[in-house]
Amino acid sequence: MSHTAASLREQFPLLAAAPELHYLDSAATAQIHSAALDAVIKHETTSRANVMRGTYRLAEAADLAYDRARQSAARFLNAGSADEIVFTSGATASLNLVAHAFGSTLNAGDRVLISVAEHHSNFVPWQMLRDRCGIELALIPVDADGRLDLARLAELMGGRCCLVAVTQCSNVTGAWTDVAAIVAAARKAGARVLLDGAQAVQHGPQDVRAMDIDFYAFSGHKCFGPGGVGVLWGRADALAQMPPFLGGGGMIAGVTPEKSTWAAAPQRFEAGTPPIAQAVGLAAALDWMMTLDWAAIREREAALCRRLIEGLVGIPGLRLLGPQQGQRAPIVSFDIPGLHPHDICQVLDSQNLALRGGHHCAQPLLTALGAETCTRASIALYNDEADIEALLAGLDRALRELA
Ligand code: PLP
Repeated sequence: MSHTAASLREQFPLLAAAPELHYLDSAATAQIHSAALDAVIKHETTSRANVMRGTYRLAEAADLAYDRARQSAARFLNAGSADEIVFTSGATASLNLVAHAFGSTLNAGDRVLISVAEHHSNFVPWQMLRDRCGIELALIPVDADGRLDLARLAELMGGRCCLVAVTQCSNVTGAWTDVAAIVAAARKAGARVLLDGAQAVQHGPQDVRAMDIDFYAFSGHKCFGPGGVGVLWGRADALAQMPPFLGGGGMIAGVTPEKSTWAAAPQRFEAGTPPIAQAVGLAAALDWMMTLDWAAIREREAALCRRLIEGLVGIPGLRLLGPQQGQRAPIVSFDIPGLHPHDICQVLDSQNLALRGGHHCAQPLLTALGAETCTRASIALYNDEADIEALLAGLDRALRELA
């Protein structure tokens, strides 16, 4: 079924209540869909109880809702089994989980390969692991457009490379990673592959089996679901190999005063009370996403992105960061030397334009691109031409006011 941006926008309560708002910061947090919000309220008012602990009917209803949420996430990712879905508090928690749990199976001198384009949440945990355990941390460089430069990939995967952990899509440049090339090289080197899907999931369901990867991380708040919940998908054999990250209730097979043994995945990785209502809300968002015509949506997002780039290249002094051609997500960042993005964003805000300015938690990438900070517009399925034209007019005004 094809939807107009206006009909989609109506389904987002915050946007429906604020027709004047041009929300262009969905890469930071996408707005929540009404189905997700309704599911959270329904769960909290009809099925609220802890999970995997109670035997009364209300607790069984909560168990069922939580299990169904796992199944929805598995369908969204085309996972082999719902047991491969670990609910976390978000992509950052998912990435830290792998860095700790998979990381604890590595030895000093084993190599983890990441890229210069990573969000700090897929950078810092690996630096911490390197400092704790003496692994080697190697970096795939980026080209002038911020795309991963894979020319030396085979060499970078040399040594004892055990894991390649890269972003599927940059949160600064919108550049998509050539996942097939990474996976082919990793398989040759005998390394596992982790994809940070935080920026990919709001542009449609994913297929972890077709991509032939081992781990996939994302956050609910970036794909029209609630905050405070995310997913780590792990191939069954990869999860089975990993010890737990956090200890506590729900993740054990048994505990004696001397020692504990672990439950199987996914429970092994879900210590304590999980984000139950948030997972239920996320599942409703994912179920809704799976009903949409993504080819049509992506075409519309790409057309808006092209129009925005076309308008921006005409602004004197403005420098676009990232690829202007080819396959890219609708995330557009730019730098105007002499103007701080926070000032630009403030003037834009006075015109009801919500954009983010700063280093976008990607300082190594910005440094590689020769910028300290930048202003970012990110487009989602509820944006339309009016948002883009308002941004271009707003920037014109910001430049005059700040000159
Ligand atoms: N990875 C990428 C590419 C991101 O853009 C973000 C957030 O912007 C994250 C990871 C971290 O997501 P969260 O803050 O939801 O954990």
